[in-house]
Amino acid sequence: MRLRLPPKVSFILDILERHGFEAYAVGGCVRDLVLARTPNDWDVTTSARPEQVKACFRRTVDTGLKHGTVTVMLEKDAFEVTTYRIDGDYSDSRHPDSVVFTSSLEQDLLRRDFTINAMAYSDRGGLVDISGGMRDLQKRVIRCVGSPDRRFGEDALRVMRAVRFAAQLGFSIEPATAEAAARHASGLSRVSAERIAVELLKLLTSPYPEMILEMRRLGITARVLPEFDRMMETPVATPSSLPGDTVGAHTVRALRAMPEDRILRLTALLYESGKPETAETDEFGWTHFPEYWTAGARIADGVIRRLKLDNATRKAVTNLIGGLAFIPETDAASVRKSMHLVGPESFDDYLALLWADKAADRNGEAVRDDDPDFMKINSLYDRERQILRMGDPLSVKDLAVDGTDLESLGYRGPEIGEFLKGALDEVLGDPGKNTKEHLLALASERKGAG
Ligand code: ATP
Repeated sequence: MRLRLPPKVSFILDILERHGFEAYAVGGCVRDLVLARTPNDWDVTTSARPEQVKACFRRTVDTGLKHGTVTVMLEKDAFEVTTYRIDGDYSDSRHPDSVVFTSSLEQDLLRRDFTINAMAYSDRGGLVDISGGMRDLQKRVIRCVGSPDRRFGEDALRVMRAVRFAAQLGFSIEPATAEAAARHASGLSRVSAERIAVELLKLLTSPYPEMILEMRRLGITARVLPEFDRMMETPVATPSSLPGDTVGAHTVRALRAMPEDRILRLTALLYESGKPETAETDEFGWTHFPEYWTAGARIADGVIRRLKLDNATRKAVTNLIGGLAFIPETDAASVRKSMHLVGPESFDDYLALLWADKAADRNGEAVRDDDPDFMKINSLYDRERQILRMGDPLSVKDLAVDGTDLESLGYRGPEIGEFLKGALDEVLGDPGKNTKEHLLALASERKGAG
C-alpha cells in the first residue's frame, strides 16, 4: 500500500534513512492518511537515538529527551521524532515511570493504545501493521493493542481516549475493549485533570458529541463529570419535552445542535447543569427549574476550574450561561440590553446557545422556516446587525459623558458610577438620548434633586 506523505515528512524519513537508521511516520497521522482525513500533526518514529536525530538536522528542539523525543524544525513546521521505545509501568496512571529505547519497530508499535493508532508507514518500508489496524479501520472499531485489561490498567486515560476516538471517527468500541474500559474507569481518579480535559474537549468538539452518553455508560463521567450523571438522572416534564425526557438527554440534543466550537460545546454541556438542584414539580406534574442559570453558572465555573482550563474559557462559558437571566424580545431596546449584559462580542455565541436550546426541545427534527422560535432567533440576529451598523451605545464607555464631566458637576466616587449606570439604562432604551447636552442636563438635575 502506498500513502502520500507530505514532502517535509518524506524529507525527514529520507535523511534518517541515509544516515543508516530506520524511520517511519507513525500513529495518528497514518490512521488519518488511510481514512483520507487531515492529520493534526505528523509523528516520526525511528531507530536513531535522540542525539543521533539531533546530529542529522540543522534545527531541533529538545522536547522530551528522556522519552526519546526531539522536535525537528523545517521552516516554521515542527515534527516530533521519537526513538523506538518500550514504555515502563504507569504506576501513577499518568505517564510511564521510565522508557527503554529499543531497536525494534514492532516493540514500539506494541506500546501504543489502539490498533488503528499502531501502524507505521514509510515509502521504503511500506505499511507496518502488526496488530490489525487496517482491519479495524475497515470494521470501524476501536480495539486495544493486546490485552485491554492490561492496557487500561497501565494508563486509565486510555479509557477516555477510546470513547474520544470513537466520537471523532464515528467508530464503535469493540465489545471486549468496552467491557475492560468499564472495569478500569475508576482509574481515572488517578489521572491528571489536564490530560482528562484534553480528551473531554476533543470528544465535545467532535462530530459525535453524543458519545458523552457512552462515557456515562462506561462509568467515565461518574469519575470526571458527575454533574452530567446528575443531569441524566433529572426528569423533565414540560409541554415541550419528550416522554421520559431528562435534563441530560436534552443537553445531549443541544450539544449536537451546536457548532463544533470549544466554547459553544462546553456551554451546551453545562448550561443546564443547575437544573438538578433547582428542579421543582408543580401540582400538574410539570417540572420547573427556577433561575437554573444562576446555579448553572456556578457549577460550570467549578467544573472548568476542576478541569484546569484557562480563565478566558471559564469566563466565556459562565457569561453565556448567566445571560439566560434575560432572554431578549426582538425590539431594539431589548436586544441592546441583552447585548450589554452578555457583551456585544459574545452575542452571536449567545444566540447560538438559544438556538441549540430550541433545537434540543425539538428532538433534532429539521428546523422549519416557519417555526416561531427560530424565526424569533433569526430576528434577533437581524436586530443585532442593525444595532451594530447604527453604532448604538452598548456600554458605559460609549456614553457621551464620562467621569470628568460628572466631577465638574460635583459628582464624587460611587455617585459617578451610579449615575453612569442609570444613564446607560436610559440610552439602551433610546440611543437618541446619548448626547452630551441631554446627559449633562440630567446629571445636574439629579445633583440638584439629590
Ligand atoms: P490526534 O492528534 O487526532 O489527537 P493522535 O492519534 O495523533 O490523534 P496523540 O494523542 O497525538 O493522538 O498521540 C499520538 C500517538 O501516540 C497515538 O496515535 C498513539 O499511537 C500514541 N499514544 C498517545 N497517547 C497514548 C497513550 N496514552 N497510550 C498509548 N499510546 C498513546
